Amino acid sequence: MDSLDGLTYSRLEERLSAAGVNPVHAKPLFNRLHRKLLTGDLDEAETLPPPLRRWLASEEALPRCQLVPSAVTPSTDGYTHKYLLRLADGAEIESVLMGFPGRFTACLSTQVGCAMGCVFCATGQMGFSRHLRAGEIVGQAQYVARRLREMHGEPIRNIVLMGMGEPLHNFDPLMEALEILTDTRGLNIGPSRVAISTVGHVAGIYKLAEHPARYSLAVSLHGASDAERGALVPINQRWPLAELLKACRAYSERKRAKVFFAWTLIAGQNDSADHARRLGELLQGMNAHVNLIPLNPTEDFSGRPPDDASVRAFQQIVLDAGLPCTVRQRRGIDVAAGCGQLKSAGKRSSHGRNASCVR
Ligand code: SAH
Ligand code: SF4
Repeated sequence: MDSLDGLTYSRLEERLSAAGVNPVHAKPLFNRLHRKLLTGDLDEAETLPPPLRRWLASEEALPRCQLVPSAVTPSTDGYTHKYLLRLADGAEIESVLMGFPGRFTACLSTQVGCAMGCVFCATGQMGFSRHLRAGEIVGQAQYVARRLREMHGEPIRNIVLMGMGEPLHNFDPLMEALEILTDTRGLNIGPSRVAISTVGHVAGIYKLAEHPARYSLAVSLHGASDAERGALVPINQRWPLAELLKACRAYSERKRAKVFFAWTLIAGQNDSADHARRLGELLQGMNAHVNLIPLNPTEDFSGRPPDDASVRAFQQIVLDAGLPCTVRQRRGIDVAAGCGQLKSAGKRSSHGRNASCVR
């Protein structure tokens, strides 16, 4: 069973009814959890309806999801903070606060490790431990939102699922968590300000296309042929490029939305003018935006990022093909704000190990 923070508003009402408490009390409780972001025990001074207060103090009330910080690393830009959070079973995940005043973003994890095994990614190199539950995804956003409120007195405006794990491999808990995080009675994040990044989980893309909420979709591409992509991203064997792009086109048409494509640039491997031209051809006619990410080197992968001139040249070719194309700033790279790195650094005592979540 999930924690109290992992219940959507309607499931919270059901839960209260089942416990014999009038479901109208869902409102103050949801407000307490997701808008006021209160932690821990009941405060005597809080004005909560007595039946709700009694239920919260009782044994049948669900426990809160406690995410305990085990490491915090601020970067020199003053705005990026990376948190290593410990879950109830001792597993550790990473969440990142990034952005700048007026536009702060929380980057959240969806799994402990990842099963997808992308060769350049520190999380992939760790392997898969388990899925996160809805409450554990919500708990990260609450944690980051509390820190942001303390530091800058601001709310979170954007959420990106670009932390550890493959979001569409953990579909239902993620959808529940996002329903909670976008609820206007709670943190109230606009659905279009939620970006789900997938390595190309085609079945998940079709499910997302049918889902009523309109979240933003980002697809990690990295290669313009099956041979090139398959060498970096093993899931390409299950869902080759043609199937992936068909799903992306279907998503874009169904939702009338732009699809974002991420391309991690690796020197000598996928950063040539020819690669850029073939990328432009692949996405022709699609409502697409390309994000280029120079590789963050990781311990178990020998690749290196290209120099700035090569990155700019690649970008220009994609732009000339008529596609919007931006280069991701590796903000926070000085705190290793890359998923998997903080955890790996602790575990393996590695140095300068950079990794995936580089937004
Ligand atoms: N599993 C999802 C989301 C998490 S990874 C996905 O793969 O899309 C978030 C992004 O970081 C992906 O675009 C991924 O390709 C990229 N990434 C992972 N490791 C990286 C690295 N070492 N350097 C640069 N980008 C990396
Ligand atoms: Fe998993 Fe994404 Fe890393 Fe691939 S890049 S291993 S899908 S987290």
